[in-house]
Amino acid sequence: MPELPEVETVVRGLRPHLEGRKLVRVLQRRPDLRFPLPENFAERLQGRRVLGIDRRAKYILVRLDGGETLLCHLGMSGRLVLAPNNGEPLEPHDHVVFETETGAAIRFNDARRFGIMDLVASDALASHKLLCHLGPEPLGNRFDGKTLAASLKDRRTSIKAALLDQKVVAGLGNIYACEALFFAGLSPRRRAYTVQGGRAERLAWAVRDVLLRAIAAGGSSLRDYVQADGELGYFQHHWAVYDREAQACPDCTCDLRAGGGIRRLVQSARSTFYCPTRQR
Ligand SMILES: [Zn+2]
Repeated sequence: MPELPEVETVVRGLRPHLEGRKLVRVLQRRPDLRFPLPENFAERLQGRRVLGIDRRAKYILVRLDGGETLLCHLGMSGRLVLAPNNGEPLEPHDHVVFETETGAAIRFNDARRFGIMDLVASDALASHKLLCHLGPEPLGNRFDGKTLAASLKDRRTSIKAALLDQKVVAGLGNIYACEALFFAGLSPRRRAYTVQGGRAERLAWAVRDVLLRAIAAGGSSLRDYVQADGELGYFQHHWAVYDREAQACPDCTCDLRAGGGIRRLVQSARSTFYCPTRQR
């Protein structure tokens, strides 16, 4: 499943190929993805020029002239694939194809069809049902130790569950919540309201840091964010704790035979990975 850093690399990969370009042809090959596609979807996109591309949480926002924005979520298996020339045969799960005036095409491929596309009036974007409940962007100016402490102070859930709440921080996801708690040295079981002051500062810093490092790794592993096969934005991760149950902690010299190392527990039906020595 694409996490926030992948979505950010997709956005950066799309920019040089879409920004300022006109969508000369849009091919819609099925009526729905996770939800029905908007009425006259292809017709409304065709002939529009792309003004800019941004990200909000894990949503890709393609701002168009004419006052509408294309909102796109990759869901579980959605991929955007760049074809420099739109001549190659389509694959069965290529559901939407955007062709620009240069002859390049961006294909939205999604085998499981949990992806989302919608067309929204740009000036009403903030009140869209998928965006209106989102809290601060983890990489934005409104997210820091103070704002994080304020939104945690009345929460009696675990800090891990709080980090997955989109109102606390938008688009973080399970993997990066685990990683951020590790680098902040906070137990995933700790009650959220106890994360105040220096702990909140450390956690806000760790959230930004794990995301920025993943984005930097993604950018450096891809030639300007596009892979050789045209796929945008996926890359190999190296995690400190995520999916590393029973392996040695990268920070401690723990004895694996004595039961040390990374542990896994289940919180709100999601796996949490953590080091019980480092994280308190
Ligand atoms: Zn450790």
